[in-house]
Amino acid sequence: MARIVITGGAGFLGSHLSRRFLDRGEEVVCVDNLSTGTTANVEELFGLDGFTFVKHDVSSFVWVPGPVDAVLHFASPASPIDYLEMPIQTLKVGSLGTHNTLGLAKDKDARYFLASTSEVYGDPEVHPQPESYWGNVNPIGPRGVYDEAKRFAEAMTMAYHRFHRVDVRIVRIFNTYGPRMRPDDGRVVSNFLVQALEERPLTIYGDGQQTRSFCYVDDEVAGLIALLDSDEVGPVNVGNDGEFTMLELAEVVLDVTGSTSEIVFEDLPVDDPTQRRPDLTVAREKLGWEPTVALADGLARTAEYFRQHLGI
Ligand code: NAD
Ligand code: UDP
Repeated sequence: MARIVITGGAGFLGSHLSRRFLDRGEEVVCVDNLSTGTTANVEELFGLDGFTFVKHDVSSFVWVPGPVDAVLHFASPASPIDYLEMPIQTLKVGSLGTHNTLGLAKDKDARYFLASTSEVYGDPEVHPQPESYWGNVNPIGPRGVYDEAKRFAEAMTMAYHRFHRVDVRIVRIFNTYGPRMRPDDGRVVSNFLVQALEERPLTIYGDGQQTRSFCYVDDEVAGLIALLDSDEVGPVNVGNDGEFTMLELAEVVLDVTGSTSEIVFEDLPVDDPTQRRPDLTVAREKLGWEPTVALADGLARTAEYFRQHLGI
């Protein structure tokens, strides 16, 4: 039986991953400071054999007693409104938190798995984005705290791999959605779904022509586990390569919820990427993985979660 440490395990993705590892008989040590996550996300796991929760900020020294087979570093604010509210913490968890957790992996002779992001490509000038693209990031803009922290995290992970021979995996996650997103976390899918369900106007930032590629969480988690279990160091893009404008997304949300909400236009945030779509060639060829859930199906499942969660 493997023993897996997940930082950020009480967040959206970390809680889904924790469940998946426990289901396949592994032990999970979830380390989270609950800054954007919540114990409610892992409440159903507390009673299960093999689940431990540790409240800790991984930007400070991290230690886990006993054997550890894998360290997955998912701790970081991930929604733009979260990392804009916590710019220094975001830089610290991407830099110091990555260094500390790499140190833990090195000490335990464990596999290390870094949750990086499509934001390392910034506002991409190459489209779709292959892993070989170096990106177009504004280091001093407001989003730079997240983008540069993750770019540093990738560099640090590769340095530990090359210099200390730590067995590492790096994933670049593209916009993922699904149950257990915070209804108020500010990301576009949760905003639009909650607005539609509450019959409030859908807020499109800018003219709505910017694009994103949305991956349902079950597909994303399957891709993450395929990478963890593979021999690929990465980085590997994991997401869905269907590409939608925000106007198109709004239309699909209205359709699946049956909402009569109107659409309103608000200011575009600074440095908001104009386009984003993963090139999934590496994931398909090396991991034998690809996404399977269509946007409308995933949105319908997520809408059902918000209906129950919010009692709408
Ligand atoms: P989330 O905000 O739901 O989860 C992040 C978790 O990390 C939270 O539980 C939070 O409390 C915890 N955390 C933050 N700082 C911490 C610290 N210093 N010490 C300990 N715990 C800390 O976000 P998410 O969507 O689940 O994202 C998880 C990871 O995946 C992040 O690293 C994010 O950058 C990456 N990612 C997510 C997406 C996505 O679409 N969801 C896309 C790209 C990358
Ligand atoms: N967005 C929007 N309305 C909202 C929230 C976000 O139009 O209520 C836009 C945002 O400007 C961006 C896209 O949706 O162009 C995706 O935003 P999100 O915060 O979900 O993720 P990211 O920008 O990190 O890809």
